[in-house]
Amino acid sequence: TSVTLLAGGVGGARLAHGFARALPDGGAPGAHGGLTCVVNVGDDTERHGLHVSPDLDTVMYTLAGLNDEERGWGLTDESYAVLDQLGRLGEDTWFTLGDKDLATHVVRTARLRAGEPLSAVTAALTRSLGVDARLLPVTDDAVRTRITTPDGELEFQEYFVRRQHADAVLDLDFAGIDAARPGPGVLDAITGGDLLVVAPSNPFLSVEPVLGVPGVREALRAGGPRRVAVSPIVGGRALKGPAAQVLESLGHDVSALGVARLYTGLVDVMAIDAADEALAAPIADLGFEVLVTDTVMGGPEGRERLARELLELAGS
Ligand code: GDP
Ligand code: CA
Repeated sequence: TSVTLLAGGVGGARLAHGFARALPDGGAPGAHGGLTCVVNVGDDTERHGLHVSPDLDTVMYTLAGLNDEERGWGLTDESYAVLDQLGRLGEDTWFTLGDKDLATHVVRTARLRAGEPLSAVTAALTRSLGVDARLLPVTDDAVRTRITTPDGELEFQEYFVRRQHADAVLDLDFAGIDAARPGPGVLDAITGGDLLVVAPSNPFLSVEPVLGVPGVREALRAGGPRRVAVSPIVGGRALKGPAAQVLESLGHDVSALGVARLYTGLVDVMAIDAADEALAAPIADLGFEVLVTDTVMGGPEGRERLARELLELAGS
């Protein structure tokens, strides 16, 4: 089975991990299929002169088994000697970067500067870390999410990390997106596989900057594979991060139904949590097939179980 997952950070990484466990050879692309993750780059930022791709790295580290599960981001067994010294040298250090994590950003930046596109750099990094699945940045071009708050427009990481996503989100802008081109393989992955999955990622901060790259939403709409979205909202709450606040401040229902409305015409199936069973009927009324299941991916087993359930949709 070939599976393509549209992903942001943590929600995308957890489900990607489930598919990597459920598919043969860790999801390595081959004659039998495999896993392709098309990942948001709107969170990318430059820190201390280095190009940081937080969502690509969260998916990459999780698939490599190196992700700090407790914190949700970064690597396990990190140290912070470089960050401490950067602080001493007068750099702002609110964006936490561990020593090993910094090595990723040094290598990425060096290769980008030498002229390699982000997609090629990502392929090299994932290969080095032993990730079998294919990771594709949605675009090799720069897309930068900017958040309008009551205090003005903020760069994404300023909003998310420095101010801990406490500001009301009045508007969102993805700078550069209109001129961005889908990365190599992205459109084929979306239209050509057996199963297309929209991860339980933040609909506005993670999924929208993927869909907004010209050609991507159209490819998804055109169909081909069976398409399913997993709701990141469970019981009216986000499991992590500001998805609930963002939905609310942009005027949407904070529920699996509110998420389903956003994905109307884009996917065939909405996967919602058993806690939201009462929303199955109104979601079906929107024209979706509804899968009600346990969508809270605790450990590796829970992720794999959800992935296997979604894989069954490909055959139906
Ligand atoms: P970020 O880029 O790291 O902020 O992560 P994403 O945008 O990929 O994912 C954030 C969203 O993932 C939040 O809205 C969470 O509610 C959702 N999420 C995280 N873990 C799970 C899970 O196990 N199940 C479901 N259904 N949603 C999850
Ligand atoms: Ca993110």
